Amino acid sequence: MAKYQVFYKKYPTFLEDGKLTIDEMHKSHVFVKNVEASSLEDVFAVMQGENWSPNGEARDLILKKGLHHTSMSIGDVIGLNNQYWEVAFIGFTELPKYLCIHCETPVYPEALRRENICYYEDGYCLNCSQEIKLRRSNRIYL
Ligand SMILES: [Zn+2]
Repeated sequence: MAKYQVFYKKYPTFLEDGKLTIDEMHKSHVFVKNVEASSLEDVFAVMQGENWSPNGEARDLILKKGLHHTSMSIGDVIGLNNQYWEVAFIGFTELPKYLCIHCETPVYPEALRRENICYYEDGYCLNCSQEIKLRRSNRIYL
């Protein structure tokens, strides 16, 4: 078991953001609570309304935080040990820790390569074609 942090999107679109970074997360997301869980999937299950708020127990917390949804959904974020994942349509997408210093494009972990994002290849940024130099994105401190 580990202690995960749960962040909900203030204005949920129920879509993947795709460009969300650790730097920007505090603008769009609100910390909800910590959850003891064994995996990201487990956190997602625990945070479904029927599990953590079967009789509306979470309503006051959700209202006080200025949020609009109780059940964790696509676009919400889970944190653990300074790593953050966005809930995706299928599974979870890790938020980048690094940005290209030329074009500010987030750099995602190797395993999450997709079109239209920036990543290492032969030392060049695939978004802006400049020699890759990265800066660490800022951490969110609660
Ligand atoms: Zn770049």
